[in-house]
Amino acid sequence: MSFFEVHDPAFAAFVIGNAPVKKLATGFDWAEGPVWFGDAGCLLFSDIPNNRILRWTEEGLTTFRAPSNYANGHTRDRQGRLISCEHGTRRVTRTEWDGSLTVLADGHAGKRLNSPNDVVVARDGSVWFSDPHYGIMTDYEGFRGEEEQPCAVYRIDPDGGIEAVITDMQCPNGLAFSPDESLLYVADTGRMHSNDPQHIRVYDMVAGRPRNGRLFHKISPGCADGIRVDSDGNLWSSAGDGVHCIAPDGHLMGKILVPELVSNICFGGRAKHRLFITATTSLYSVILNRKGIQWP
Ligand code: MG
Repeated sequence: MSFFEVHDPAFAAFVIGNAPVKKLATGFDWAEGPVWFGDAGCLLFSDIPNNRILRWTEEGLTTFRAPSNYANGHTRDRQGRLISCEHGTRRVTRTEWDGSLTVLADGHAGKRLNSPNDVVVARDGSVWFSDPHYGIMTDYEGFRGEEEQPCAVYRIDPDGGIEAVITDMQCPNGLAFSPDESLLYVADTGRMHSNDPQHIRVYDMVAGRPRNGRLFHKISPGCADGIRVDSDGNLWSSAGDGVHCIAPDGHLMGKILVPELVSNICFGGRAKHRLFITATTSLYSVILNRKGIQWP
C-alpha cells in the first residue's frame, strides 16, 4: 500500500514511494510537541494528559521529564536549548544545560498567560509562542482555569520583554517561519465549542513584526495544529487524515496518510529528512525527499 496521496504531480518527487510510515512507539493519551535533538540522536515529545515528556531513540523510549507541568509544544533556541510550553503552569520555559528551568514568560500586562501551546525561535533569538485557551479548558487536574488574556501570539525579546504580536486570530496554535523568515505561518484552530474558521494564516514579516495577515490554506479533513516548513518553503501540516504538504502559493501538493489523528510534526534524523509525527496515541516517522530547517 502507499502511504502517500499525490495531488500535484510535483509531490511525487517529495516522497519516496515505497517508504513506510512507521509506528515507532505507542501507548500515549495525546502525543504532541516533537522536537529533534540531532546532537543527542533523540526526539523529545509530550504526552500531555500523562504529564510527561518522553525521549525516543533508536534504542527505545524513556521518560525525559515527569511531571512536565503538562508541557505541550517544544523547540530549540539558537544555542540548542529546549524551549517548552507548559499548560499546567501557564508559562514558557527554557531548560538550561545543567537541567535547571528558566521561566521565559508566564504573564502579560499583569495577568497570567492562558496555556502556551506551540513555540518557534527566530534567527535573532526571539522566542515566538501561541497562547490559545485549550489547556485551561480541559478537565485534567491542574489544567483548568480562567482565561486571562485574549488568545494571541507573543514574541519574547532576547532581552526578555514580551509583546503580543498577533491579536487578530481566534485561537492561534502551530507556528512556523519560512526559510528566510520573511513569512510567518500560524494555524488558527478556533475557540473550543465554536464554529470559528479553522485555517492557516500567513503574515509578512516587516521590520521583525508580522503584518498583513491573510488566509493561506484551509486544511480538510480536520484542521492544522502543528506545522513545519521545509528548506524549499513548502509547509507541512497536521490534518485529520495525516500530514498535508502545502506549496508556498497555498495549494495542496499531497498527503502522508496516518492512521491516527495527527497533532504535530517535526523534521529530524541525520539528514533532517525524516519527518516525525505525533498522532494521538502513537509516534510515527517517515523518510521524505525534503529536508527540514530545524536547527541544529
Ligand atoms: Mg498545538
